[in-house]
Amino acid sequence: MTALGTLELGSYDPSVAAPDVTLQTFAVFQDVAAERARQDAEWGTTGHTPEVWLAILTEEVGEVAREVLGLRFGEAAKCHGDLRTELVQVAAVAVSAIESLDFGAAGLGRPSRGAS
Ligand SMILES: [Mg+2]
Repeated sequence: MTALGTLELGSYDPSVAAPDVTLQTFAVFQDVAAERARQDAEWGTTGHTPEVWLAILTEEVGEVAREVLGLRFGEAAKCHGDLRTELVQVAAVAVSAIESLDFGAAGLGRPSRGAS
């Protein structure tokens, strides 16, 4: 989790960001980007069909549901993570699926992290 106090503003370029992006939103984007990179490191930069992306996204949404139900019914101790972490994972998978669609539609391979 990125705390606003440790946010690295040196990488923030307001000229390319939407003018209504708050520091709080930017901090969330940083966490999503970090999770996006972590998922690539764990699973590789594989492209998937929309059906596979849907299955992956649904699995992650199911983990959000588990966290919410755990919090609601007092079973949070049984949860493996926390709600915010799971929501960030949902967003990261959605970003990855969007990238896959965008690059697939352009006839390009999905970009890999760290490639020059
Ligand atoms: Mg998850």
